[in-house]
Amino acid sequence: MDAELHDINRTESALRGKKARTVIFDRDGVINRIVMRDGAPASPRNLEEFIIEPEAPAALGRLKAAGFRMFVASNQPDLARLKVAPETIDAMTAAILAALPIEAVRICPHDDGDGCDCRKPRPGMLLGLARDFDFDLSGAFMIGDAWKDVHAGRAAGCKTILVARDYNRGVTADFKAATLSEAIDLILAVGDAPR
Ligand SMILES: [Mg+2]
Ligand SMILES: [Zn+2]
Repeated sequence: MDAELHDINRTESALRGKKARTVIFDRDGVINRIVMRDGAPASPRNLEEFIIEPEAPAALGRLKAAGFRMFVASNQPDLARLKVAPETIDAMTAAILAALPIEAVRICPHDDGDGCDCRKPRPGMLLGLARDFDFDLSGAFMIGDAWKDVHAGRAAGCKTILVARDYNRGVTADFKAATLSEAIDLILAVGDAPR
């Protein structure tokens, strides 16, 4: 009886593991509003500029209810450029973790010249998340609003979704969505498809 129960539990957890999917989000322009600075998309530099997309809690809640795990991976070169304080970035991370069912937020604090492994389009943050949180990148989706997100996702073996914006015309990904909610509809539609 005990052995049988054990086997049932093991089968259930194996099925869950197989069905479990992961979504990695870019931060600025996906989870929170982009800030336009001098006509170009930019990152918020203070908490007043940091506005979580109003649709995000409900949209990510639907993924959570479907059993998805969620993470954020964000380039923040303004740290290296001394344009934003580390404490401000930490406060933004805390706001994300408080508002959304996100397990962890990874930040690359470097700039192009630093030659780090984590700055997208390199896949270091995604590989680190998969290692530290024990999930399979080949079953994961990367959602971003820039070519660097798409390239990082591809380099990590993820399916990629571009949230289409005026500033990213011409960027291609595996899927394109008009909004964060539409990106999540896409994942829920294809996430359980046979691979
Ligand atoms: Mg972005
Ligand atoms: Zn880095």
